[in-house]
Amino acid sequence: MYIIFLGAPGAGKGTQAAEVARKLKLVHIASGDLFRQALEQGTELGIKAKSYMERGVLVPNQITIEMVLERISAPDSKRGAILDGFPRNLEQAEALDKALSREDKAIDKVVYIKVSEEELLRRLSGRWVCRQCQTPCHATDSPPRVPGRCDRCGGELYQRPDDTEESIRKRLEVYSVETAPLIDYYRRAGKLLEIDGVGGVAEVAGKITAALGG
Ligand code: AMP
Repeated sequence: MYIIFLGAPGAGKGTQAAEVARKLKLVHIASGDLFRQALEQGTELGIKAKSYMERGVLVPNQITIEMVLERISAPDSKRGAILDGFPRNLEQAEALDKALSREDKAIDKVVYIKVSEEELLRRLSGRWVCRQCQTPCHATDSPPRVPGRCDRCGGELYQRPDDTEESIRKRLEVYSVETAPLIDYYRRAGKLLEIDGVGGVAEVAGKITAALGG
């Protein structure tokens, strides 16, 4: 089973995708996390991606598609995967469809999480992320039990360098120009599940589980 999580930055894709991956025992593949890991490890891929990420624009398709398709072809993804943050434009979506169809596979469902722009800005500017396990929390909505430490693994919390106001605005603009057309692409394919992303994590998770058929 291959499920895509689609939505603007700050819509809650990462949190919800991780939850569904745990429930369905599928790997959670987040393209942004793959880039951040590469950056932290100082690999060639990380160095190539750095300047794009800092500016809040998309890393070129060739680099991104190669990275994600390689990850999807790993043994732990053979049963399926939860894709988070990929695809982010039509070229990526078509490359993914093609790669899966070569193995007689296809995307099953696309979970599109809808949240207003005002709420996205509020969520992103208060977001803190664990350096170790990437779990996000929010300064006021879901503050950590121990200040500066991740509730899940105790790792150090930090604010992503691209969660500045300028970069957030750029990423939202990139989303509406490049990624939003995917909503129609998957709607036409009959795969889109539209989820209202307003509400607490558990409430939204409940709506997603129901839409995916329990
Ligand atoms: P995210 O963690 O999903 O918000 O991604 C952080 C940054 O990584 C984005 O602003 C892009 O620069 C880059 N990135 C992540 N996923 C993709 C993708 N599918 N295509 C191109 N760039 C991406």
